[in-house]
Order: sequence, then C-alpha cells, then structure tokens
Amino acid sequence: MTAPSDLLDAARKLQPRLVDLRRRIHAEPELGLELPETRRKVLAALEGLPLEIRLHEGTSGVVARLRGGRPGPAVLLRGDMDALPMPEDTELPFRSKRPGAMHACGHDAHTAMLVGAAHLLAQCREELAGDVLFMFQPGEEGQAGALRMLEEGLLEEGEEAPAVAAAFALHVAPQLPCGAIATRPGALMASADVFEIELRGRGGHASMPHDCLDPLPAACEIVQALQTFVTRRIPATDPVVLTVTRLQAGTTSNVIPESAQLTGTLRALSERSRQQAQQGLAQVAEGVARAHGVEAKFQLLPGYPVTVNHEPMAALLLEVGRQLLGEPSAIQLPSPVMGAEDFSYLLQKVPGAMAFLGVRPPGASDPAPCHSNRMQLNEDALPWGVAFHAAVALHALGQLAAGSRAAR
Ligand SMILES: [Zn+2]
Ligand SMILES: [Zn+2]
Repeated sequence: MTAPSDLLDAARKLQPRLVDLRRRIHAEPELGLELPETRRKVLAALEGLPLEIRLHEGTSGVVARLRGGRPGPAVLLRGDMDALPMPEDTELPFRSKRPGAMHACGHDAHTAMLVGAAHLLAQCREELAGDVLFMFQPGEEGQAGALRMLEEGLLEEGEEAPAVAAAFALHVAPQLPCGAIATRPGALMASADVFEIELRGRGGHASMPHDCLDPLPAACEIVQALQTFVTRRIPATDPVVLTVTRLQAGTTSNVIPESAQLTGTLRALSERSRQQAQQGLAQVAEGVARAHGVEAKFQLLPGYPVTVNHEPMAALLLEVGRQLLGEPSAIQLPSPVMGAEDFSYLLQKVPGAMAFLGVRPPGASDPAPCHSNRMQLNEDALPWGVAFHAAVALHALGQLAAGSRAAR
C-alpha cells in the first residue's frame, strides 16, 4: 500500500468524490474565520472514518486525529478553507453562487485534498508509526486563522496524545505544470506588513501656499524617499518589497488640504530585514514630514511572518515528490515568492515545510494566477495532492521513528 504507485492508484479512485466536494465548496465560498457551510461539508465528507474530531470554538477550525497502528509522534497536515472577497468571472458550471466571494486561491482544492488524504491514510492506518493530524483552517486570507487555532490550543493535546513533531502544507500554483511539486529550503514566502501614514499640515487657499502647510509635496517626497531607503539601506542579498498602494488627499482644485494619507505593504524574506525596514520606514516618513513642517503619524499593522521551511523537511518534501512523481516533477525553487502565508506561524512552533502543487489548466499557456477573478485549476492534480499528502505523512513518521531509534 505504501508504495508510491499504490498510493497514487488509491488516490485516483477517490477522484470523483474529490471533484464533487471541491466543486460544492467552490460554488458556496465563505469568507474569514466563520465558515459554517464549508465546515459542515468537511465533517460530512469525513464521516465514517476512524478519526477523533475536535471542533474549534472561536473559529470554524476542525482538527481530525488519525491514530496510527504503531506508537510514534504526530505529523500535522494543513488545509485552508476560506475564499476571497471578490467577484468570480469564470464560466465554470460550478462558479460562485455568492456575489462578492470567490475561491480564487484554490483553498477549495486544499480542503478537498486534505479530506482525500484522511481517507487514504485511514486505509493504511496500521502502517503509520504515529498519528496524523488533519488541520482544516479558516481565515488564511488576512485573518490569521492559523494563529487563532494555535492560540486555541492546536498543539496542546494533553498527556494521552503524542506531540506534533512536524507540520506540512500544500498550496496550489496555476503556473506550475499539473502534478508538479515545488519548494525550497529556508524562506519560501515573504512576511507581509501594512503601514499607514497620516500627514497633517495646515489647509488654505491654493493661491497662497505660503500661508499653509501643504501635506501633498511631503507625501510625494515620502513615496520617493521610501524607495531610495529600500535600495540604499536594505542589503540586496536580503531584499524587501515596499509598495505605496494608496495616496489620498484633497477635494478640489483651489484648496490646499489639511491632511494626506498613505497606505502600503512591506514584504521581507528575513526577520532581520523586516525589522530594519519597519524602523527605517517610520524614520524616513517622519523625517521628511518634519523637514516640511508637516506632522506625520506612522502606524505599522504587523501581518504574517516570513514562511521559513526547515531544511530537512523541505528536503523530505522534494524526496517524496521525486519518489511519487518522478525527478522532473519535483522542483527546487531558485527563489522565494513574495506572497505571504499564515502557515508561517506553525513553522515558528514546529519543524515543517510547505510546497506548491502545480495545477495548470490544460492548454493554458498563460494561466490566471491565484487571486485572479479568472483563476482556474486542473482537477486532475487533486489525486496527486492527496497521494503527496499521504506519502509525506508516512515518510515523515517513518523518518521520525528511525531518528528516535538511532537516538536510543
Ligand atoms: Zn490567497
Ligand atoms: Zn492561499
């Protein structure tokens, strides 16, 4: 059963159910931390399996434990379940029935694949040298659902259950060939913080700027100065991306406004450059404003930390990928991605790694990316993802058991 080809065959048998579940979740997307309908669908799809299910109370999170046939530690597999607040513009027969909500990040597929992995691993339960925890998570798209579940005791299982020794997650990637696995050791995805700058001057008549304190030139200079700050003060080898996405001021052509607001995003690949950029950003904004006699109020809204794959765990993902999919389909990414993930909070607590799963639609040379209103995925990738999840859990538990034997 644990031979890669057996796992794939078994996963392919689940395909019609996976597609059905994924499409039903896709048609009824839910947002944020409360996903009652999605949770109901997940629980119904897990029914009859030998799982110990724990429902989180503060959110719609679900944790299902599969006890292995042999004693050992626990391995956690994560699937996120939430959609995005945006309209869907595909012609799919199962497109979103809810205006303003769309599964454009593939979390519908993540949920279906994790359900599939639970079915597959339940079939080879006796071979598991430990437990597998299936973590169904809400609120990945900005609400830090993973952090909420950690705060609600995700990793605190008490005396009678083994501790989580490793955690893994998969994320679909429409750009990658169907069924390919891609990851890298170290930083895989960036941190993502939001900043807001409020500039306050003195408003007045546009013909008499000398009687006013115009916040607009200061705002423009801050945008430029921030880019210079990034290139001059942050090492090119540990890059950050800083983008001002909103600049708002004024109401008409003959009035100098009293205030201006800037908003933007700050992304980094290490805590070091993240902190350096956070501090410098405030300093530059306040310094430029002061030079113009304008008052600046700076606010940083910290977001997800950097997603850092633990090296041996990333190596394990690539090794399992090679065994399951063949050498060319296990891709070591040359560089990280500047998007962010709240799986990063889990990787701060336990060793683990995340990988991308290729879901490029057939015939698509320039597929719409995640978060596009036209994003689509190839459902033929679902069994690959299911078999990969299962193989990773089996492999990780085997490796952890071998490690503890060697330590004895
Ligand atoms: Zn997303
Ligand atoms: Zn996502």
